[in-house]
Amino acid sequence: MPTGRRSRLHKVFVTRDLPGDGLRRLRDEAGVDLWPGGMPPPRAALLEGVRDADGLLCLLTDTVDAALLDHAQRLRVVSTMAAGYDNIDVGAATAHNVLVTNTPGVLTETTADLTFALLLAAARRLPESERAIRDGRWTTWSPAFLLGRDIHGATLGIVGLGEIGQAVARRARGFGMRILYTSRTPKPEVERKLGCSPVTFDELLAQSDFVTVHVPLTPQTRHMFDAKAFDRMKQTAIFVNTSRGAVVVEADLQRALASESIAAAAIDVAETEPVAKDDPLLRLSNLLVTPHIGSASVATRARMADMAVDNLLAALDGRQPPNCVNPQVWAARPMSSDGSTA
Ligand code: NAP
Repeated sequence: MPTGRRSRLHKVFVTRDLPGDGLRRLRDEAGVDLWPGGMPPPRAALLEGVRDADGLLCLLTDTVDAALLDHAQRLRVVSTMAAGYDNIDVGAATAHNVLVTNTPGVLTETTADLTFALLLAAARRLPESERAIRDGRWTTWSPAFLLGRDIHGATLGIVGLGEIGQAVARRARGFGMRILYTSRTPKPEVERKLGCSPVTFDELLAQSDFVTVHVPLTPQTRHMFDAKAFDRMKQTAIFVNTSRGAVVVEADLQRALASESIAAAAIDVAETEPVAKDDPLLRLSNLLVTPHIGSASVATRARMADMAVDNLLAALDGRQPPNCVNPQVWAARPMSSDGSTA
């Protein structure tokens, strides 16, 4: 049942409660059907929610595929509260004339902060150090106890020099690192500004002390970090991933860490989330894992929710949503005789 304060023209299905006051603003404009509780709606509930909805506000845990779009005959916009939108079949949405929007930019610095926190923690073995104290294994100061890797003077390889990759590069400069990058298109201006050098993927893997991944998950990037990639890295290398879990072949990462063909990894994302308690990855002491908290600061999550609501309301009002990933749907929209959106 809609939970809006009065009967509205538009109906919106929201798959989770949102931080900040975005939901209140949404309720002022539309009939809001909010999925209760902290878990994602099961598939049947998601299908039921979108059946006669004009808009869907979803999270990265909700799969929006062709079957859902077939089912949601009135749907005009899918607004996801995330920068990545690999959970949405954008091609199918475009074919159904459904706008897809995301929330890039506002989470860039927060996610770069987490990336650097992971890099520092893995380099200086913070989780192991903390466990050593709690387990009563800190018996004395010792010259060879829990030795890590220096960050200053080390080489950082950034795979995907977009918004977050560049924000990580800015932090790396402050730490006195040498920065290499590989990206889909050359970025000479960014290179000059941030002092990054372009290299091939293989060169980056071979030369970097730290490899950090910031590509979106696409057919081209899926499983780009496989056994061959880990074999090319230095034995002392530390691998950091805050992008999407499926850019990595997890079994290959596990083997590389278990055999110490790389030194350590720190990951915020996994191919299957949440990571199961008995996942073999969790048996590795040289792996640091966090539960997809890249954008998880109070201020950033509120901004993301606001942005997702703004995108949704714009689309429902017939205004161009500020962050649309399939603008061809907007360009092809029917116009009324006075030039406004029909
Ligand atoms: P972005 O600005 O679009 O940057 C992505 C970069 O990856 C672009 O520079 C792009 O190159 C490059 N790229 C794309 N395909 C590539 C390929 N096949 N090989 C090499 N480089 C490639 O996105 P962003 O805001 O930095 O976010 C990156 C990803 O981080 C998101 O897609 C999302 O999945 C993930 N993320 C995770 C969290 C978290 O909570 N852990 C938070 C935010 C985002 P071009 O510049 O040439 O297009």
